[in-house]
Amino acid sequence: MALARERRLPELVEQNDLHGLLHCHTDFSDGGNTLEEMAEATRKRGYHYFGVADHSRSAGYAGGLSIDEVQEQHALADELNASYRGKFRILKGIESDILQDGSLDYPDEVLASFDFVVASVHSRFRLDAKTQTVRIVRAVSNPFTTILGHLTGRMLLRRPGYEVDIEAILSACAEHGVAVEINANPHRLDLDWRWHGRALELGCMFSINPDAHSIDELDLTRWGVLMARKGGIPPERVLNSLDLKRITAFFDARHASRTRNRRRGQSAVKNGSRT
Ligand SMILES: [Zn+2]
Ligand SMILES: [Zn+2]
Repeated sequence: MALARERRLPELVEQNDLHGLLHCHTDFSDGGNTLEEMAEATRKRGYHYFGVADHSRSAGYAGGLSIDEVQEQHALADELNASYRGKFRILKGIESDILQDGSLDYPDEVLASFDFVVASVHSRFRLDAKTQTVRIVRAVSNPFTTILGHLTGRMLLRRPGYEVDIEAILSACAEHGVAVEINANPHRLDLDWRWHGRALELGCMFSINPDAHSIDELDLTRWGVLMARKGGIPPERVLNSLDLKRITAFFDARHASRTRNRRRGQSAVKNGSRT
């Protein structure tokens, strides 16, 4: 109300601002449709990219991908991408389990082969708040992490979120340039809209993700858009409101800065200096 009186209402993200979808599953893990079917259904809905993010290898219950399967999926994505001739693109992602110690689920050279990584907790929900927060902050600090999936893990009407210091996790996301997921599945709607304003203040980016496990679930995205609007999020703070050219440039820039930092780290070790 006060904002409206002062004519300072922000422009809110709309469905049409979204140029693509990130965090979707296929039958490589626990999804019901093939990569080609999911990508094609996404293209038909008017989007310009499909970000596949199947489960990672520790998620045995959900058919998580072995390293061989990751390579197989990437080869298929390359083949399909060639047929789209630049008009549409499958972006290669993974929903990496956050392991108990906060590390991600593949060695660095495999993580480096993805365009983006959604890091999510799928196990050990009952750690005490401090341990759980340290674990998630460690995953957010990992240079390969692009998006933090369903931050609190809540399932509406089924289970509360895990005990965590949300403020500390959001600060880490802002510091490391990791987008906070607004998981659009109506059972999750996580991060809750009541935290969006604080996340904006801290400087966080968001990603509105359907976490689709089938073609129909691609349309769950709209619940995420509604929540983001309720939370006051403008389009420029939403990762997947970037068009195909900009989001690939964004991923490339993160990739380049990782490589630079690694080289710097290696030469520091060689020179015996500590930075
Ligand atoms: Zn998940
Ligand atoms: Zn998922």
